[in-house]
Amino acid sequence: MASKYTAEFINEELIKQTLAENAQITQDEFNAIMAKAETAAGLNMLEVAKLLNIEDDERLSQLYAAAHRVKERIYGKRIVIFAPLYISNYCVNKCQYCGYSCDSGIDRKKLNNEELINEVKSLEAMGHKRLALEVGEDLANCDLDYILESIKTIYSIKFKNGSIRRINVNIAATTVDRYKQLHAAEIGTYILFQETYHRETYAKVHVKGPKHDYDWHTTAFDRAMEAGIEDVGAGVLFGLYDYKFEVLGLMQHAEHLEQKYGCGPHTVSVPRLKPALGVDLATYPYMLSDEQFKKVIAIIRLALPYVGLILSTRESAKLRDEIIKYGVSQISAGSCTGVGGYSEHVSGENTPKLNTAQFSVEDERSPDEVIYSLCKSGYIPSYCTACYRQGRVGDRFMALAKSGDIQNVCQPNALMTFQEYLCDYASEATKAEGEKVIAEQVALIKNDNMRKLVLVQLEKIRQGKRDLYL
Ligand code: SAM
Repeated sequence: MASKYTAEFINEELIKQTLAENAQITQDEFNAIMAKAETAAGLNMLEVAKLLNIEDDERLSQLYAAAHRVKERIYGKRIVIFAPLYISNYCVNKCQYCGYSCDSGIDRKKLNNEELINEVKSLEAMGHKRLALEVGEDLANCDLDYILESIKTIYSIKFKNGSIRRINVNIAATTVDRYKQLHAAEIGTYILFQETYHRETYAKVHVKGPKHDYDWHTTAFDRAMEAGIEDVGAGVLFGLYDYKFEVLGLMQHAEHLEQKYGCGPHTVSVPRLKPALGVDLATYPYMLSDEQFKKVIAIIRLALPYVGLILSTRESAKLRDEIIKYGVSQISAGSCTGVGGYSEHVSGENTPKLNTAQFSVEDERSPDEVIYSLCKSGYIPSYCTACYRQGRVGDRFMALAKSGDIQNVCQPNALMTFQEYLCDYASEATKAEGEKVIAEQVALIKNDNMRKLVLVQLEKIRQGKRDLYL
């Protein structure tokens, strides 16, 4: 019997035709598209296709500046901080690009309860409050019960004044029933990267295993939403196929979710292919240059203005510090892509005993170094998790973001969580820079009552109160 889950909403012919018909962009068209983008109304496929063809420096810098303004208009100076936590790298899939591929020769490991607690304590000691839980796909070695138990354990651990308050989960495409169980475990966003929207490439790089099934994978968010999960996190692994095709595929996916479930993706991640065990990047002809990568990020911000746009430590510190200005609103910091890597790092073991990493990271700064750098550039690092704890998810979050009231809720919450970070985890240098940022940003709160309330709450935090939010 044919599955009811087919990804017919990804229309390759239409993508190819749109790209072919919009390979040129006149100055008038460019101006009109930019004017629309500045209103944060989003862009359609045709407009996105035109922007993807921009090559000249003048237009590129206008594009970056517009993406910066749209991000700041919606999300202000806030940058959400999180870390990935890998709890198992067992995997039955054979994926050409991935260090977890079943034939990669990597050391396999799954955290036991004690190891999991140590990992979480190490992350909490760095100040983290939000995690992205990562596992390979292997129901025999890492079933859903193990994942659900791990979520429970993670939420229960309190260490150094901190706790993990939101766990986003990145597990393989699964059934509505299993998504219901994840939803009941109070996960934040359900994350699943599409890798590539191009069917032929998808089939080629996912050689065998359940992930080989394009339709099952591409309709995962449909099942997650049917199960009641409202926040889903999309992403493309850039470098597998033509980036222009991928961006339009992402647009079609977002449009499908919006039309069918009333809400598009909550976040979009932009991982770029990196070296991994058994992966030779020279054999991937579609790798993006830094310029193309920046363009993609800025266009996604303008096309889907309300999404949380996530940039990981796959990129270098220098590039991240630059790209953050082109529309990014969430970043990981201090990440380790191996299983058990955080505790090894804290215990001073520089060479992990096992080679369990999925791919290499390039930004190896500690969270405190990343936060220092963000403060120097005037950003507010945010550990806020209030929206999801207050039920502001899915279309309710989008309504808040679109109303502009997000400034009166998220800004104070970001400042309060950042104040916690400064009190509990920051180095002296970061504390000094951070306090400056907080003072500047509080002064900018227009509503008198809100400004006074925030000042009171910040003082309470300095006096020892924790986990205050609106
Ligand atoms: N369920 C996921 C899995 O098994 O792939 C969980 C872990 S993983 C962090 C998430 C993503 O890492 C994958 O979806 C893929 O996009 C990305 N990834 C895999 N290999 C990579 C590589 N060599 N370079 C960069 N990113 C990679």
